[in-house]
Amino acid sequence: MEKFLQIAKSMEGMSKEELAKSLEGKKSMCICGNCPSYDECTKNKEELLFCAIGKSECMITMKGCVCPSCPVTSDMGLTHSYFCTRGSEKQQRGM
Ligand code: SF4
Ligand code: SF4
Repeated sequence: MEKFLQIAKSMEGMSKEELAKSLEGKKSMCICGNCPSYDECTKNKEELLFCAIGKSECMITMKGCVCPSCPVTSDMGLTHSYFCTRGSEKQQRGM
């Protein structure tokens, strides 16, 4: 099974606490803060980890996306990007 699908399946079996801990770990690896599209609004709301959480609540102007070079992309087997405006990996896969 493909990496992302394997990880998504194993996360479904986690308790709420385990899932929260895992997402916190991924959040600490998120490099959105270095992205040219990450603006004052996302910064003020402390939004991160759009690949898991989904779209931002902010009206973001796309100026590029650094997701492909983020360690979470290789760690999770992500195949998409621009998660803050296009939705989470799952949403972009139609899952
Ligand atoms: S892949 Fe993108 S949204 Fe996901 S943690 Fe990395 S920088 Fe953040
Ligand atoms: S999801 Fe991609 S485009 Fe959006 S802020 Fe993060 S790195 Fe930038």
